[in-house]
Amino acid sequence: MKIAILGGDGFCGWPTALHLSAQEHDIVIVDNLSRRRIDEELGAESLTPIASIEERLSAWEEVSGKKVGFANIDVAQDYDGLLQFIIDEELDAIVHFAEQRAAPYSMKNSRTKRYTIDNNVNATGNVLTAIVESGRDVHLVHLGTMGVYGYGTAGMKIPEGYLDIEVTTDEDEDGNQLDEPTRAQLQILYPTNPGSVYHLTKVLDQNLFAYYAKNDALRITDLHQGIVWGTNTRETAMDERLINRFDYDGDYGTVLNRFLMQAAVGYPLTVHGTGGQTRAFIHIQDTVRCIQIALENPPAAGERVKIFNQMTETHRVRDLANLLGKIADAEVELVPNPRNEAPENELHVKNDTFLDLGLNPTKLEEGLLLEVTDIARKYADRADRSKIPATSLWTAKQSAGVPASV
Ligand code: NAD
Repeated sequence: MKIAILGGDGFCGWPTALHLSAQEHDIVIVDNLSRRRIDEELGAESLTPIASIEERLSAWEEVSGKKVGFANIDVAQDYDGLLQFIIDEELDAIVHFAEQRAAPYSMKNSRTKRYTIDNNVNATGNVLTAIVESGRDVHLVHLGTMGVYGYGTAGMKIPEGYLDIEVTTDEDEDGNQLDEPTRAQLQILYPTNPGSVYHLTKVLDQNLFAYYAKNDALRITDLHQGIVWGTNTRETAMDERLINRFDYDGDYGTVLNRFLMQAAVGYPLTVHGTGGQTRAFIHIQDTVRCIQIALENPPAAGERVKIFNQMTETHRVRDLANLLGKIADAEVELVPNPRNEAPENELHVKNDTFLDLGLNPTKLEEGLLLEVTDIARKYADRADRSKIPATSLWTAKQSAGVPASV
């Protein structure tokens, strides 16, 4: 297939581009390099030394003999450039990672809130509109998040996207009283409860997808992904110049990778609040495999959006910290939670689709120590400890010193 990877210079996009190229697909990356600019803005860097996009691509060609293309297009702002690209490249599929993906960054201030909405919603709207205008039958695979569900379940496993509901009413459509109550069966998108402006953009994306699948018969797969951990995949481990990024700062460092790095540099594992939040996880090697599986199993034109839960395990944050504390001999410290969220939650998730289609998950307990030794300790001297604490607060109350859970 000819596949464009939007956001292909990022943490998930880069290993996906290489994995699909290794599978003999014809790959072209689209990225406006905004993530690298945000690194500069925050004064934070990937723990791993990532090469420039040009160096990455020439190293891949040298190592694998395969060419991956690159186009610097701002998907959110340059609609004409994106449309021309889709027409010229004669794409079969687009994988869409090109969004601002950090919840804490999205909550930092009004500028970052507005940027996140503007960038993410426009990017998705532009991609959908351009596919329609190009007239090409392009399968769109988008990276969504388990976070649209507000980190919690209502006494049931979160289904893969849709919920069958039954509504009982004693009025007809005109509001007239019925002699007997009547029941209506509906299938709806599982209700969302976003926990940040970033998660809100993923909720808005869902409605854009549902509309374009219905109105224009676009073929769309939305992958509701858990928190990705780990660094390298088989391909990015082939050469130092192909190494993947590893974020550990208070805004972009996701919980498990942040813990890994903290363990490696002897910084206590900082657990927000009670650490009772349950989160879903997936290893980066499984992410790239899931995307391959999704590309190989597209919906038919006219079918509703295919929604898969792309996660393999759920854990409470404090359990993770304790597990890693034991493995890596690190201390655990409870700190006030910067987020406005329930202190404890349950999370039960259905993920049968990927397992049935052949995903063989990387187990967290097996991979953790390797990450600490091979990555986090190896690059520990690049760590800036002052960037570790989370400083973005969810509400004004928190800045006044009132704990988030109040
Ligand atoms: P990332 O920030 O490392 O990568 C995103 C890439 O998109 C960056 O290279 C950035 O420069 C590019 N980009 C952003 N806006 C763009 C625009 N307007 N035009 C062109 N390029 C643009 O993020 P990631 O961790 O790789 O996440 C990728 C996707 O996966 C995101 O949509 C995110 O929501 C989703 N996701 C990630 C995780 C995770 O744990 N990392 C978990 C769930 C879902």
